[in-house]
Amino acid sequence: MSPQIDSSRTDSSKKNSSSKDNFRDGLEKKLKLRKQQNLFRKRNTLASRQGPMIKIDGHHLINFCSNDYLGLANHPEVISAFKTCADQFGVGSGASSLVCGRSDLHLQLEEKLADKTGREAALIFPSGYMANLAVATTFSGRTDGVFLDRLAHASLVDAARLSGAKLHRYQHADHEALALVLKNSAVNEKLVLTDTVFSMDGDIAPIKELVRVCKQNNAVLAVDDAHGFAVLGKSGGGLLEEKEISAEDVPILVATFGKALGTAGAFIAADKIIIEMLIQFARTYIYTTALAPALAGATLASLEVLEKEAWRRETLSALIKHFCNSASALGLNILSSDTAIQPLMIGDSEIAVRISDKLFDAGFLISAIRPPTVPEGSARLRITLTAAHTEEQVDRLLETLGKLL
Ligand SMILES: *Cc1c(COP(=O)(O)O)cnc(C)c1O
Repeated sequence: MSPQIDSSRTDSSKKNSSSKDNFRDGLEKKLKLRKQQNLFRKRNTLASRQGPMIKIDGHHLINFCSNDYLGLANHPEVISAFKTCADQFGVGSGASSLVCGRSDLHLQLEEKLADKTGREAALIFPSGYMANLAVATTFSGRTDGVFLDRLAHASLVDAARLSGAKLHRYQHADHEALALVLKNSAVNEKLVLTDTVFSMDGDIAPIKELVRVCKQNNAVLAVDDAHGFAVLGKSGGGLLEEKEISAEDVPILVATFGKALGTAGAFIAADKIIIEMLIQFARTYIYTTALAPALAGATLASLEVLEKEAWRRETLSALIKHFCNSASALGLNILSSDTAIQPLMIGDSEIAVRISDKLFDAGFLISAIRPPTVPEGSARLRITLTAAHTEEQVDRLLETLGKLL
C-alpha cells in the first residue's frame, strides 16, 4: 500500500498550522514528487524461501533478481549448520565484538577467511555497508583523499563522505583518469576504493591497471568484492584470485556473505597491522552488536559447500554464456557483462517500471533499477542469474522479453 497523499493538507497559506503539520506537509510533497518522477519504491514480501522460485502475494514467480548467485541461501547443509550453531550458541550475539559478542564461531570464520584469501587476518562485520564505512573512516581523514569510481556502490560513497577526506570521483573503470587525479592531488594519504564487479552494470574493474596506477602514485587500493567473492576465481576466492593479485598489490579486501555465500554479514581481509587498526579504531566495528554466531557458523558451512561443490560455479558460468548468446541473438539491449549480473538497459524510469510490472504478470520477478541507484536516464532491469536456475527457466525469460520489448 502506498502512503495516502491528502492534498487538502498541503495548503501552506494555513495560518496557524503547527510545525508538526509543516513537517508532514514537507514529507508529503517529497513523496509525491518521488511518485511523479517514477522513482517511488515498493517492497516485495516473500512468502517462501529465497530461491529461483518464490511466492509473492499469492503469485509463484521465477526469481531473476536475487544475489544468491550459487543458490546457497537455501542449501540443506547451510541451513543445518545454522540450526546446530543456534542450538549451541543461541541466537543473538549479545554484545559488540570488543565486549562479549565474539564467539568461537567468529574466530573460526576469521581464520578460515584469512586462509581462503591468502591474507594474515580477517575481521567480521554485520554487513558489507559497515565494513566499507570502516575502511574509509579508519584509513582516511580530513587531510587525506578518497578516490572513487563514478559507479561505485552507495556504501563506498557514504564511506568516503563519512571519512571527511577530500572525495574525488573518476570516470568509470578508467585507470588513466584515476592516474591523472592521483598525480594532481596534494592530499596526505591517498585511498582508492572500487567495486570489483560493479553491482548494477555487472562489468569488472580493470584491476591490474588500478594496481599499477596506485603503486605509481603512492595510493592504497581497497576493493569491494561483494559480487566477485565465492563466484570468481578457481576456488571461489574472488576477482583477486582470478587475476592472481597479491595482498601486497591490494592491501585491503572487503567481501560480503549476503550474496554468493547465501548468508549475511561481511569481512575485511588484510595484513595483521591493518586488521589491528580496524579493531582499535573502526567505529562500525566497535559500536555495533556482533554478527549472530549462528550466521558465522552457517557462513563456515557455506564456504565448505563452495569447496565441495565447484559445479555450482561451473553451472553459473555456463548459464551466463547461454544467456548472453541467446540475448544477443534476440537483439536485446544487454550491457556488456561476463558476470551473473546482466542488465537490460531501458533508459526511462517509467518504461522500466512498466516492463517490470508486465514481467511480474508473466510470472517473473525482475526489479526496475532507477536513479539514484543508477545514473539519470539509465533505468534498467537488473537480471541476475544463479546456479539454481535451469536453462529452461532462462529460455522462458528470454522468450517473454522477446515478446514484451
Ligand atoms: C551489497 C553490497 C554491499 C553491502 O553489503 P551488505 O552486506 O548487504 O551490507 C557493499 N558493496 C557492494 C558492491 C554491494 O553490492
